[in-house]
Amino acid sequence: MNDTEYHKQLGIGESAFDALEDHLEHRTYEGREYRHVPDYRRGVERGTVLMEGEVVRGFPKIPRALVLETGIPEQFDDRVAVEEKLNGYNVRIARVDGDQLAFTRSGMVCPFTTRMIERLVDLEPLFDEHPEAMVCGEMIGPENPYTAHDYPGVESLVFRAFDWRNRTSGEPLDVEERRERYERFDVPQTQLFGTYDVDGAASEVRPIIEELDDEGREGVVMQSPDGSTQLKYTTSASSRGDLAYAFSLPFDYGQEFMFRRLLREGFQTIEWDENDDAARERAHELGEAILLSMRDAIETVEDGDSVGERHTVRASSETVNVLLEHLRDQGLQLEIEEDRREDGDRVVTFCKKVQSSNDKIRNYLEGQIV
Ligand code: ATP
Repeated sequence: MNDTEYHKQLGIGESAFDALEDHLEHRTYEGREYRHVPDYRRGVERGTVLMEGEVVRGFPKIPRALVLETGIPEQFDDRVAVEEKLNGYNVRIARVDGDQLAFTRSGMVCPFTTRMIERLVDLEPLFDEHPEAMVCGEMIGPENPYTAHDYPGVESLVFRAFDWRNRTSGEPLDVEERRERYERFDVPQTQLFGTYDVDGAASEVRPIIEELDDEGREGVVMQSPDGSTQLKYTTSASSRGDLAYAFSLPFDYGQEFMFRRLLREGFQTIEWDENDDAARERAHELGEAILLSMRDAIETVEDGDSVGERHTVRASSETVNVLLEHLRDQGLQLEIEEDRREDGDRVVTFCKKVQSSNDKIRNYLEGQIV
């Protein structure tokens, strides 16, 4: 396939494609060569894949509101559909040259997710009827190699669809049609809370957020009914969870990551008009999330152990092997902590070693001056 065809499919000029080409990552998946856009580029979504003459569009970045009351009317002008934002990892599934492949946010084929999806949901009838579909969703649950989060009733790893787009153009289906189609194809999907007039939407969303917060869930994604415009808003529980995680590896997470989550808390306490007691309680919980996880991390290193990202996966032996190989290929250092068989599957707990947090914490404990 020559690149002229790609630029047409992407809807950009030849010179824009030439400029893009320098930024493409080249990879191979089971003998198939492909390229992808690993970071944000003007005009072409991050995660866009060029493979065997076909384009698989990246999933767009969803803007975030810090204040619902003003953020919602800024983004929407009529009706707003509100769905749950799930905490897991993003996956896009497309059928390319006859094979169903699962792509990560940045556009790599994930060999683990590609295999797991086949086990979790039968997408064959959907792709037979709609070969141009790009099924977008979140992989959630505790036995997860990238982001583990508990959901009631979810014991291992599950898939929840939240979007359906055209693979080449990235055009979404409207919310109603998407939900109907997933229902018809028996594909599990994220919950829809309701569709509201833009004027009252902030006051509809607030109790939803409060309930999600109580349950330790992440938040909502709001959409225009045609699916073209999106906006996200998350709970305080989600900010605290992220901060606790980041401060358990304090020198491996960008400071910007932490700062952004702190800001969300500041705006939420103002918008929700919290009195001194409520704001103090929020401050207390926030402080605990930060300090207690940092304290655990420092204690771990002080005791001679190391900190890292611990994950458990449950899959066939072959699937576990390709996952570990895939992670190691990306330069990750893994330590296998447990490897056992259960009901014909392999259940493996591994730790992704992180360098900076271990080294820096040790150096400071040994007296290094800052
Ligand atoms: P990104 O670059 O992925 O946008 P981010 O950290 O800025 O990164 P997130 O807070 O992860 O953004 O929110 C966007 C992600 O939320 C999506 O990429 C998607 O994986 C996930 N998500 C979960 N539930 C939904 C949903 N119902 N609708 C849309 N996206 C969802």
